[in-house]
Amino acid sequence: MLLDTRAMRHLTAEDWKVLTATEMGTKNHELVPTQLIERLSRLKGGASGVHKSISALAKAGLIARMKEAKYDGYRLTYGGLDYLALHTHSQRRQVYSVGTRIGVGKESDIMIVADDTGTQKVLKIHRLGRISFRTVKSNRDYLKKNQACGSWMYLSRLAAMKEYAFMQALRQEGFPVPEPLSQSRHTIVMTLINAHPLRQISSVPNPAGLYGELIGLILRFAKHGLIHGDFNEFNILIKEERPVPETESKGKGKDGDDEEEPPRILTPIVIDFPQMVSMEHQNAEMYFDRDVHCIKYFFERRFHFVATEPGPFFKDAKKTVGKGGARRLDATAEASGFTKKMAKDLETAIRNQAVIQESAPDSSDEDEEDEDEDQEEENDNEDTKVHFSDTLPESGEGMVKLVISEST
Ligand code: ADP
Ligand code: MG
Repeated sequence: MLLDTRAMRHLTAEDWKVLTATEMGTKNHELVPTQLIERLSRLKGGASGVHKSISALAKAGLIARMKEAKYDGYRLTYGGLDYLALHTHSQRRQVYSVGTRIGVGKESDIMIVADDTGTQKVLKIHRLGRISFRTVKSNRDYLKKNQACGSWMYLSRLAAMKEYAFMQALRQEGFPVPEPLSQSRHTIVMTLINAHPLRQISSVPNPAGLYGELIGLILRFAKHGLIHGDFNEFNILIKEERPVPETESKGKGKDGDDEEEPPRILTPIVIDFPQMVSMEHQNAEMYFDRDVHCIKYFFERRFHFVATEPGPFFKDAKKTVGKGGARRLDATAEASGFTKKMAKDLETAIRNQAVIQESAPDSSDEDEEDEDEDQEEENDNEDTKVHFSDTLPESGEGMVKLVISEST
């Protein structure tokens, strides 16, 4: 289920119509009858044109014929959904080309993309439920029993919707998060942060300062009624900036180069929001404590830093919710059209996913040396230790152009 854009430029306007028709049909049919695809496509050429497109789409793996089906029909694949989402982002002029994959989580693919001005961005493709296809049978059975609430397509779309809504709300409140630019189906386009995940940072000049800043963020979320829910070293990116020298000439003789470098400024940027929960959630205290613990544990292991003060504690944070005019953000998802059922379905899916990850044979142990725990498929041999900036393609180099034909 990797994003493969090779077929993109070969699709005709008719193919796009047929792909869109299949998606429309998916709303009411798991397997969309061929006749319905014909009707929804409204091609001038009639059925034969539709069949030609169906073959092309099936060959590119964007739709798939169901084998043991009672009637003739097709379903949309992850690839097909990816194409439709990319098509929408490109029509909004947010994405013009697709570059390398920089991250692969258990539930997402992270790609570098660029718009037609060459500005690089990040495309996050949610893939909820993916893990269930490749782990042991007991997990599949577990999922089947517990995931009556919906398909991977529906759940991945919910994850993208919720994440996008929270990124917008947090950004508006001035939180250090990437700027959300566009959302379509199970995908989000956001600004690219040129930074390393905390996970890759071996030392910092002032661990106490950074620790204080991160705990401060947890408390700031709480004030707005929120808990991140996955506040760990993978979801905190550390931007490293050199302070601009006050005056270039100040005291700088010809030995200027030997002067001690000013300390770097480290700014944390938080990402990954599909699992955010309210401070009013029935398990809020557990989620809050877990976020705090993650930071404490990481700082102790990596930087040998132990805070002198205990806490912060949930009961104290709870008292600050909404104080000082802090806008409550915990109803953000609801405000963006999320129903109670959607919230519940997504929460169940994320919880199940976590259970599976813990029981999966390749799940991460806590071994400090084990840096490759993000690797998950046999063809993923990118080195996660590579410096983030090294993986950025130079001005469009290595990018695949999405030449998307005019459609609808
Ligand atoms: P997941 O839900 O799979 O954990 P994340 O949103 O946490 O997905 O992204 C996975 C990885 O991709 C991150 O750890 C980070 O390295 C990279 N990443 C994600 N978003 C951005 C971004 N906007 N800028 C730079 N890197 C990013
Ligand atoms: Mg993450």
